[in-house]
Amino acid sequence: MERFDTVVVGAGMAGLTCARMLMDAGRRVVVLEARERVGGRMCTDRTGGFPVDLGASWIHGIRESALWALVEALQIPTREFTVGSFQVGGRPMEHFDASGRRMDAQASARWAADVEAVDRDLAEVIARSSPGDSYLDVTERALEASGLPPERILEIREFFRHRVEEQCGAWIGDLDAHGLDEDAIDGDEVIFPRGYDELPRRIGAGVDVRFAHTVHAVGRTPDGWTVRADAGSFTAKDVVITVPLGVLQSRAIEFDPPLPRPASDSISRLGMGVFNKVFMQFPERFWEEGTCVIRALGAAGERWHSWYDVSVISGIPTLLTFAAGPLGRHLQTLSDAEVVADSVRALRALYGERVAEPIASWVTRWGDDPHARGSYSHLPIGASHEDHDALAGPFDGGLRFAGEATWGREPATVGGAYESGHRAAESILGRPVDRAAFAAAIVAREREAAR
Ligand SMILES: Cc1cc2nc3c(=O)[nH]c(=O)nc-3n(C[C@H](O)[C@H](O)[C@H](O)COP(=O)(O)OP(=O)(O)OC[C@H]3O[C@@H](n4cnc5c(N)ncnc54)[C@H](O)[C@@H]3O)c2cc1C
Repeated sequence: MERFDTVVVGAGMAGLTCARMLMDAGRRVVVLEARERVGGRMCTDRTGGFPVDLGASWIHGIRESALWALVEALQIPTREFTVGSFQVGGRPMEHFDASGRRMDAQASARWAADVEAVDRDLAEVIARSSPGDSYLDVTERALEASGLPPERILEIREFFRHRVEEQCGAWIGDLDAHGLDEDAIDGDEVIFPRGYDELPRRIGAGVDVRFAHTVHAVGRTPDGWTVRADAGSFTAKDVVITVPLGVLQSRAIEFDPPLPRPASDSISRLGMGVFNKVFMQFPERFWEEGTCVIRALGAAGERWHSWYDVSVISGIPTLLTFAAGPLGRHLQTLSDAEVVADSVRALRALYGERVAEPIASWVTRWGDDPHARGSYSHLPIGASHEDHDALAGPFDGGLRFAGEATWGREPATVGGAYESGHRAAESILGRPVDRAAFAAAIVAREREAAR
């Protein structure tokens, strides 16, 4: 059995960050990864000759972001695209009203102002909410108090529902009233024209990652831990588990002794949402040049409601749309062709026969992926942001968790995964790890390798 200082389980953003920081400090580290690639939920498909980000695409807000500082230090090119957090306006959007008619600029502006006004009141309603209140409860209270006419309320209600589905992958009635508290976006958002997986690949270069090593048991020993994967067993003083919350909830990994209460309570209280992507490429653009988002409101957007123009990545007219929450789970039972046809039908209801058959498409199924079992974590009714951080540990004997679900300030993001990996490394080393030096070391190693 091979012995290391630390075994890290999972080669996503959290696991690779932690492993690399420990290695930089001279520790012997191995990363056990179930898949045949690094990056986990950062997954770029290049089979078409251009990158298609099937998992994460955005940095949601670059102001005072540690992740953005890393991306800048590594000189990874990005593109401003501040529409990734279900904004109501701010960038060019084509809106369609509940009957599927294109809204003019004035109607769009009035709609955006309606949402912003109710959103402001919503913050106060949430602050006054009681334990057990759902996000549906608080949005209904804010809508009722708004005094707006019923048809305008319908469109805002639909918007709130879809915002929860996109941001949390959950049904609005299942999300805690505080489930979007941490969802503020600071500064612009950016996407990655070369593919987001460049980041984990560069962090992970030179890290001892054992692929096709699905871990199924983690057991305490007198001097540390034994980690059993289907392709071998490893021992170490410390172990860091970075598998997604959905994998922990499925009990695919057996812990001996069983996990302590704070960890097992967090795992059962937190929720794992489903958020899937559908990319469609068209022979010609049927939407206006410069439009960032096409959005259908109210009844017109009940199923499919938002399409994002990401043509800039491939140079081919491309729309990205999302199926999340209950619809996302349902669509996983259909074939790719059925999913695409359904979304195209919705576009034709807005643009008519100008919408040609897509020439290529990509459909994800993160909820069915055995190594993700969902897309990202959220707060079901009764859970709190403390549940995220309570999962991190350290627990008796040097067991730690990292990953987006363990970072309460910014869960469900690449940024949260990065911060959590950094926290786990600092906790093991017992001292701060300088992030600028971490980034500089990556660049220095790359220069050395290129010589
Ligand atoms: C469709 C989609 C879109 C998203 N969009 C964004 C976005 O735009 N911006 C953003 O910031 N975030 C986004 N996210 C969330 C973001 O991708 C994640 O928060 C982040 O990548 C999680 O990193 P992680 O290291 O915590 O987990 P992961 O990346 O999931 O890494 C965990 C690793 O553990 C491995 N593993 C699982 N089980 C085992 C096992 N038993 N044994 C060994 N290895 C195992 C997995 O294969 C995986 O590689 C998106 C996610 C999805 C699914």
